[in-house]
Amino acid sequence: MSSDARFAQVAAWLAEARSVTALTGAGISTDSGIPDFRGPDGLWTRQPEAARLFTLDNYVRDPEVRRRAWLARRDNTALTAEPNSGHHALVSMERAGRLRAIVTQNIDGLHQRAGSDPDRVIEVHGTIFEVACLTCNDRTPMRAALDRVEAGEPDPSCLICGGILKSATISFGQALDPYTLRRAVTAVSESDLLLAVGTSLQVHPVAGLVDVALAGGSRVVIVNAEPTPYDRAVDAVLHERIGDVLPALATAVERPQ
Ligand code: NAD
Repeated sequence: MSSDARFAQVAAWLAEARSVTALTGAGISTDSGIPDFRGPDGLWTRQPEAARLFTLDNYVRDPEVRRRAWLARRDNTALTAEPNSGHHALVSMERAGRLRAIVTQNIDGLHQRAGSDPDRVIEVHGTIFEVACLTCNDRTPMRAALDRVEAGEPDPSCLICGGILKSATISFGQALDPYTLRRAVTAVSESDLLLAVGTSLQVHPVAGLVDVALAGGSRVVIVNAEPTPYDRAVDAVLHERIGDVLPALATAVERPQ
């Protein structure tokens, strides 16, 4: 099938779907200047040792890892990035009544910033805009913690219990919040089309949401520049740039031919 025919087929499926859930990954935010992990310019691809900063055990054990992690957070482009046409396309699909939920692995808050209904955005890997205490679980704004770093505390601790603070994101070796994961599974189960956008589908359990969709008989469409382990199992794959294809799909859904 030509890529035009594949696009037309996906647009028709989106237009006829009763309920669509989008599953987004780092690839939807690369056009906003936030590097992904596993793409050609990804953080892991360029600096494999950076993964150390994102491993919970190392973070808890080693104050030097924490000091470096705070500096990395201070400089994280996700804190200041602006949403791009991919995020806006999902807002259009929601306003056209097509989108039940966005399950996002991203921690950058850009779906909400673009105008997606926050109640429909399920952040399975947390958010960089908050900090959580690893002991008492108290949550505070990231900005307040970064102000402490900038005022000379290289590893600020919890003001309530003295525990270790970390961004409220899921590190390697850290369990996902079961309630949030359940919400994601419910959204996927109750939709008849799953649109996976900008994710390498290599991170579990989130990648397993594709299995949930397939097992429930839903259509699954992947939009991603590079191949994923699920390409052969799903109904269609658009190996194209998100910034090109998602706005075009949103337009096709708003004005079906
Ligand atoms: P990933 O890095 O594993 O995969 C991203 C995929 O997107 C790659 O396959 C890449 O080819 C594709 N891609 C990148 N830019 C694209 C574009 N413009 N058009 C089409 N495809 C494009 O990302 P993942 O699957 O989300 O897993 C990485 C983990 O890292 C996630 O858990 C997420 O929490 C975290 N992360 C988040 C951010 C963020 O919040 N923006 C950024 C980096 C990593």
